[in-house]
This record gives sequence, C-alpha cells and structure tokens, in this order.
Amino acid sequence: MANTLFDALFAPLRGRDTALLILPDGRQISGAAFLAMVAQAAHALRAQGVQPGDRVAAQVAKSPQALAVYGAAVALGAVFLPLNTAYTPAEVDYFLGNATPRLFLCDPAKAVALAPVAAAHGTAVQTLDGAGGGSFAVAMSGQPETVQPADRGPDDLAAILYTSGTTGRSKGAMLSHRNLLSNAETLAALWRFTAADVLLHALPVFHTHGLFVATNISLLTGGAMIFLPGFDLDTVLRLLPQATAMMGVPTFYTRLLDDPRISRDLTAGMRLFVSGSAPLLAETHRAFRECTGHRILERYGMTETNMNTSNPYDGERRAGTVGFPLPGVDLRIMADGAEVAPGEVGVIEVRGPNVFLGYWQMPEKTAEELRPDGWFITGDVGCKDADGYVQIVGRAKDLVITGGFNVYPVEVEAELDAQPGVLESAVIGLPHPDFGEAVFAVLVPRPGATLNPDRVLQGLHDRLARFKQPKAAVVVPALPRNAMGKVQKADLRKTYAGWFSPGS
Ligand code: AMP
Repeated sequence: MANTLFDALFAPLRGRDTALLILPDGRQISGAAFLAMVAQAAHALRAQGVQPGDRVAAQVAKSPQALAVYGAAVALGAVFLPLNTAYTPAEVDYFLGNATPRLFLCDPAKAVALAPVAAAHGTAVQTLDGAGGGSFAVAMSGQPETVQPADRGPDDLAAILYTSGTTGRSKGAMLSHRNLLSNAETLAALWRFTAADVLLHALPVFHTHGLFVATNISLLTGGAMIFLPGFDLDTVLRLLPQATAMMGVPTFYTRLLDDPRISRDLTAGMRLFVSGSAPLLAETHRAFRECTGHRILERYGMTETNMNTSNPYDGERRAGTVGFPLPGVDLRIMADGAEVAPGEVGVIEVRGPNVFLGYWQMPEKTAEELRPDGWFITGDVGCKDADGYVQIVGRAKDLVITGGFNVYPVEVEAELDAQPGVLESAVIGLPHPDFGEAVFAVLVPRPGATLNPDRVLQGLHDRLARFKQPKAAVVVPALPRNAMGKVQKADLRKTYAGWFSPGS
C-alpha cells in the first residue's frame, strides 16, 4: 500500500531517535516518538469514525499533538482542515457547514460555545489544548503506536485550507498529496535543507506557511524544528543560537530589529532567514542585513498554490521583489488577455504541480479563477523586471478607482514609507461623493517621530500624479494585522468609511 505524503514525510521517522521537535522548555520529541503520537492520533480519529476522504477540522492551539493530528489525517487518507484559532463561533459555523467534517477538534475552553455549532452540522467534537490535554489527548493515550497507512495517490486530497477571505467569503482550497509534496521537494532543494538543519518554527500551524512550507520541508529532509507555540520575542532571541534557519512573516523581522539584542553574534550560526505571506519592506531587508549580515530570502505563495516564487539561495536576493518562479512552476503576467512585456504590470497567473485542485464545493468559483489548461489567476498584481525578478504590486481587488483612474495602493505606500518619520503605511479607497472612491492613507510613525499628516502628503507632490496622492491621511500607532502579518484593510475601510461622506 502506498500513501504519497505519508511515505515521504512521516514513514522515514520510524526508528529515528534524534530530536524532531525541540520545545521551548528544552524537552525533545524524537522522530520515532512523534511517529508513535501520529499513530495514536490516527487510531483515536478512527475510533471517532473517521474514514478515508472524511474531513477532520481542527481549531486548536499549536502543540506537538496538534501537528500529530495532521500526520494522522494523512495516514488515514482523511482530509486535514486546520482553522485559524482567531475564528469566532459564527465563522466556525460557516466552515463546518461548508466542509461537513466527520470530527471537529477545538480548545476545551471553547467547547461549550462550539459544541452546538458542530452538532448542527452532524459533526462530532473532541478537545485538545496547547499543553496536550483534552478529550482527544485522552482518546490517544493507550492507542497502538503504529498504524497501517491508507492507500493514497498523488491526486488524492490531503488538506483543505480556507483562504483568508479578505475580499469575500472564505473558500476551501483543495490540496492534493502531489501539491504538497512537490512544493516541499522543490523548496527543500532550492533552500538547501538537510538533516543537519534546525528550523526555528514560530509560525502558526493552521496556515500554509507554518503547516506546509516549514513543517513539510523539515519532515522531508530529516531536520529538527524548535517548535514554539507562537512568536515570543524573548524565546526566539534565546533559542536563535540553536537554530540554523528561520521562516517568518515580515512582522517577525521588524520585531527582532526593534530589539537591541539582535546582532551578528546572535545569528552567527544561522544560514537562512526566509520571509513571506506579506510584503517585506525593502527597508527591513536592508536594516536586517546591516544588523546581522544576513540577507533575508523573500518568497511568495498563497493558500491555493503553495509557494510560487523565491529569491535565489545563491545570487542576489533583491529587496522588494519575491524572486523567480520556482523550478517546475510557470508564471506569467497578464493584461487584456495577453502576456505583458517585462516591466509592465498585470495579473499574476501560475501553473504547476503546486496549484490546488479547486475550491471545495464551489465549482463556479473554481471556474472563475482556475483556467481549464491549469493556469490559476492569483489576483495578485505584479510585474517581472528585465532580469526576471517578480515584484508584487498589489491585489487586483485592492485597486482604488478614483475619478475613473486606477491607483495601486502599494505604489503610494512605497512613496509614503520613504517620507521622513514614516515607518509604514496602508493606502485604501474610501467612498467619496465626487470621486466615487478617494485615496486615503493610514500612517505609522517611526519610534520617537511625530508625524504631521499634511506635511507627509505634501512630500508626495512631486513624486506621484495628482490622482494617486491621498486626499487625506491619519496617524495611528500600529496597523491592524492578522496572525500572518497581513494588514487588515477591510478593518481600516470600515473604521474610516465616513471620512469623506459623513453621515452616509
Ligand atoms: P494566503 O493565502 O493567506 O497565504 O495569502 C496569500 C497572499 O499573500 C498572496 O496572494 C499575496 O497577495 C500575499 N503574499 C504572500 N507572500 C507575499 C510576499 N512575499 N510579498 C507580497 N505579498 C505576499
């Protein structure tokens, strides 16, 4: 019997007595011990009636047991469905209704609120907490420590990850064994991961970055992970000297740079820092290099496609770009039905073994975004420079249309960020009685700086066409971000909705 993903990622842990997971308190879980945990979780899932093809939803804190549930679902040929721990019961209701999982794992503290939600969809509930407690942990204990994996081929479904839904209802991206394995193989080779690597893992495991990129690469190459429940600055600084690599979202790097303890010495044993999931400011790239000597490697991907591009391991890691298409991944920039010339902006499309199978139970959405010949319309707007480096300019749906002119917020944000005293900015479109939408800026000052929004806007007068210049700006201490570091523009639009049209 073969199981594409299990055979590549989990079966090799058999008999491995070296650490796979290193926990913040120093405890270590060997590869063999983790595989036993996977087997026990698989038996506990089966005891709940989970069959091949069934969905297993989990909204649980990050822990070794939570990761074991992923392995267990793969072993059983079930479909793993991790959910952001920040989702409310009303949001969970939507996911359970859409995916109708056999079993839903949740935090014991939320069980009272979530049990009726699950019951309404005929889904069983078990609990698991961040310390490895809960009814599911009890169900795991005493189960056999080996499991016979179910037969699964490359085209079978391994996971459903819901998109973050910034522009509409979340959609369940169906990811096959091949999607996940091919991407892990490509990235492991490109980024030179080996069994000698120790990856500092502080990302959540409900998102493609922490669950698939970080975890699958480590499992595939036989390395170890310093497995942290989240990004705690003191813990990360304490454990960085034991690591060889770290994957992070841009906020990890800005937070490290804000701390005087980050230095060349502290990172001397590191060989790779990766950033992704949100744009890394060129300024952060430069500052990190000055401080540590390391050139952060930025890559670009999304829930539906796994990773698409990466800056090179050797060669120039160009700040402000996401590098080249990965080996085996085709990438084109399209406008008006045709590929554009280098330097011109258009919508990014990708094709390759990394691209998902479609949206769960949403054939019409799938048809809108996934072309019959395999090209996926990412909705990201970008360009390729003359050397082939890809640059993300914004989201197609993030476009502001003001007085009939198109404005890409990223272009305006880059100019704002270059103004004295500005740390970062977010540009949005707000309803405006004359222009339809007006460009509006939200500014964050550098530490210690005081910003005068009008003066910042004056600084753009000879930098940007008049229609691209924000009509107003506000100063806030920090931008609202989600767990992956993405700026929550929908929240900003809501907060400032009445700015230009009060009372409407
Ligand atoms: P998600 O599906 O939650 O991983 O979000 C994917 C989206 O995040 C992409 O479509 C991009 O808009 C954005 N994204 C991911 N990586 C980068 C990056 N390195 N630079 C800019 N945007 C990124």
